[in-house]
Amino acid sequence: MIDMREGWILVFDLDQTITACDDDNNVEFNQIIVNILKGAVKDREKGVVSAIFLLTNNADGKYIEQVHNELNIILETSNVFDYILDANHPIRSHMPDVRHIRNAKQKTIADVEFMLHQVKKTTKNLVHRLLFFDDQEHVLSQQLKSAGKPQHFIHVNPPFLGTFQTNSTKSTTRRRRKSLGTRKIRVTS
Ligand SMILES: [Mg+2]
Repeated sequence: MIDMREGWILVFDLDQTITACDDDNNVEFNQIIVNILKGAVKDREKGVVSAIFLLTNNADGKYIEQVHNELNIILETSNVFDYILDANHPIRSHMPDVRHIRNAKQKTIADVEFMLHQVKKTTKNLVHRLLFFDDQEHVLSQQLKSAGKPQHFIHVNPPFLGTFQTNSTKSTTRRRRKSLGTRKIRVTS
């Protein structure tokens, strides 16, 4: 039997998983993921969740900080993410990015182990405790599959127009939604 006393490790991608960006670079949140994060923050207080990590191929530190700050306000917490590993982090800089496109860098279990070490949490039984949320397949999702845990990769399907948005983005998103003819998703709390 697996010892779950150490709790779940939740790893989230940023772009097209937590947020969608429209043409004006406004932030739109995926309300489903925001709700999952809300529950995760509460479960972390109880010890059911050990850590919440952001593992992103976005390299815009200022943007990532802005999104994190907005999430902290929405979820009424001081730090949603225990650690943020972005594309510019030294441990990921060795990875080839020859195509100069997003998501060219791989995400692996070693990245999650690195983050756990940084926050001084155990890596024991990691694949049994790890849930990975991303709109794209990565080495990490394959590693979970190989370890017999394909269900621990939660494949997010963007776009998610009509979900939660900050005040500054409402008019743009409404205009875009209208032009695309998408339906508004009703949000329940
Ligand atoms: Mg993504």
